[in-house]
Amino acid sequence: MRLDDKDITQSDLDAKMQRAIEEENKREIEKQRKRKHKRNLRHAVLIAMVTVISVAGAVTLIKYLSPNYYKNDEEFHEFADESFTTYELCPHSGNETTEYNYGEYFSSAVRRDGPDVTENIKRFRENKINAIMSADSKEASDSDDDLVRATLIDASVFKTGTGGISMVINHCKYKQDKRDLVFEGSEAETYLFNEQNGATAEPLQVLNVNYKDKVSEYAEEYFTKYYNDEDRSENWKKYLTADDGNYNKFVMTGDEIIFIFDEDTVLTKDKGISAVSMPYKLISSAIRPELLNRYIDPSKPMVALTYDDGPGGDSEAKILRALEANGSVATFFYLGNRVSAFSENAVKAVQIGCEIGNHSWNHPMLSKLKKKEVQEQMSKTNGAIREVCGVDPVVARPPYGDCDNKTAKTCNMAEVLWTVDTQDWKTRNSKKIVKAVQSQKNLDGQIILMHSIYDETAKATEKIVPWLKKKGYQTVTVSELIEYKTGKSPEAGKLYRNVK
Ligand code: ZN
Repeated sequence: MRLDDKDITQSDLDAKMQRAIEEENKREIEKQRKRKHKRNLRHAVLIAMVTVISVAGAVTLIKYLSPNYYKNDEEFHEFADESFTTYELCPHSGNETTEYNYGEYFSSAVRRDGPDVTENIKRFRENKINAIMSADSKEASDSDDDLVRATLIDASVFKTGTGGISMVINHCKYKQDKRDLVFEGSEAETYLFNEQNGATAEPLQVLNVNYKDKVSEYAEEYFTKYYNDEDRSENWKKYLTADDGNYNKFVMTGDEIIFIFDEDTVLTKDKGISAVSMPYKLISSAIRPELLNRYIDPSKPMVALTYDDGPGGDSEAKILRALEANGSVATFFYLGNRVSAFSENAVKAVQIGCEIGNHSWNHPMLSKLKKKEVQEQMSKTNGAIREVCGVDPVVARPPYGDCDNKTAKTCNMAEVLWTVDTQDWKTRNSKKIVKAVQSQKNLDGQIILMHSIYDETAKATEKIVPWLKKKGYQTVTVSELIEYKTGKSPEAGKLYRNVK
């Protein structure tokens, strides 16, 4: 009855079918073992390892929550104690508690187990779960019928084995129908964190930029093989292409990655959420080996290097190499109109853990523009960055630092200025640029302004980055600096002249 860790729920999966699939999996594993050295090994492993899952579990579980299935309190409690060892049950109020009474429906059952996680991740998970629960109980109390409603939240966390924590929050809603609770709908959300400090991480920090090409090839084969036309939605193939919108939800365990598909996408709505699991060794070219290993110690000094006016060509590539070689990061404020032309550097920046910020579309003085034009500068650039890098910028830097509180509000992003100006654009002299940084008495909490389009800046960066490391400074992104120094995430619409 309990949902297994590795299992991703897919509602209403007929038990017979599930058994058949398991049998088939076993057979495939056996077959695969026998032809280990044969050429078609890889596809066979995939099919064998593919896991479909236990939603049947979730549905049955909720069904049994119905008091109609139990003769008395004792029988019910016996069942509940056995079945919910890994869940905490929550009543309609949405408050968390393990109390339950016979005859009362549960509004939620929340999974609590998983590897030890940092306080940040725990808090994140609690907040998400609480938000779902209170939204659902509000919906239940607002409705004018007096039907029983229930929510099952399966919030599981996994270690990725690459320094990350992967989380899936799976949320299934049920509604009373005569004597049973029936499945109403489901939604899955997935998140990725740094294992050591609990900071959120981007998919491209654990996956190579072309991962979707590799994955789509296998996923289509899987859904073709294990489902028939009735199970698959009309446009199912659309959700399995390597396009932007696909394969953004996934869970990573120690040895496999599980891609999750919302209900009513690949499979028809009544099938709920579906998933395909792939062992890392099968898609090794899609996995980045050691990405999430950067750790920020809040008690040690930190500095934010920032580079405007990119993405650029060779000089920016040089800067990225210097950062990567030292395990360092920076924030790049990009001009929207350059992003697709220099996409290689932009993607690389994300992959090595750098932050991408918005530096407008084509570098205007924002104060000379109409409100609508300012917003267009922002949104167009964010769109270009999302398309190429797969991330949504939260920080922006106004060209020429031309921004006041009112403009920041109009931009609706965290507008970040700088505290150390290297004047690199003016001097174009690496020695002077290095000196501008090294001559500062204390760099803790400082935001350093440079530009990634000058070769002298790249040369200076090759000196500055190892020097900072030697001096005991951690390089952080602007968002991280704001987070650690102010205790709050960057606020949209706010102008940051510094982070004191
Ligand atoms: Zn600029």
